[in-house]
Amino acid sequence: MKPIEIVVATGNPHKVQEIREILATLLATHGFRVLSLTDVGAGEIPEPEEDGETFADNARIKATQYARAINRIVLADDSGLAVDALDGSPGVFSARWSGIGVTREERDNANNKKLLAELASVAADRRTARFVCAMCLSAADGSVIAETAGEFHGSIGTNARGVNGFGYDPLFVVDASGQTSAELTSAQKNDRSHRGAATRAMAKVLATHPSLS
Ligand code: IMP
Repeated sequence: MKPIEIVVATGNPHKVQEIREILATLLATHGFRVLSLTDVGAGEIPEPEEDGETFADNARIKATQYARAINRIVLADDSGLAVDALDGSPGVFSARWSGIGVTREERDNANNKKLLAELASVAADRRTARFVCAMCLSAADGSVIAETAGEFHGSIGTNARGVNGFGYDPLFVVDASGQTSAELTSAQKNDRSHRGAATRAMAKVLATHPSLS
């Protein structure tokens, strides 16, 4: 039987990799194929404007607009960091919070610098934060098949540590051990992360949804 192809609509190769790894078991047993935008020759399609107020709004905008544009089943995620001492900021503005940087790496570095500066006078016990991920699966016609979400609770450290992952990972302390999510292997991060939880919930939908099985 021909595998059902799902295109992950993100320009962030780390996200495609994480989602692929988490869906690996499902892919093997149910014959799904996870493709990136580049894999289907859609790497040049401009990203839709993410002007939603919530992560869920933006995930839906991305999934449905890309699905219509390429006429395929599309999975999109919108994610970010919510810091309690900053009233939930940077939130949906996580990716370009500092406004500085052209490449993803430059933006991530500038964002992390800004985060440390904003929290400079905040005591350790008030630096709690969480990563949030909203996911949306759209049919090729742009209708929503399913939406899921996940959270990853931790706190913001005082110096960057670790080289794995991306974004705010080097500052995101995952538990009392003091380890950051950039010090976790990808398998360890996937087990605990916001994207891991949202993707596993989506995997359940994929495995049982009548129009997909
Ligand atoms: P999006 O691509 O618009 O969803 O932006 C997500 C942004 O949130 C990224 O650029 C990161 O700054 C941050 N972010 C989301 N998930 C993670 C993660 O797993 N680790 C570190 N930063 C993340």
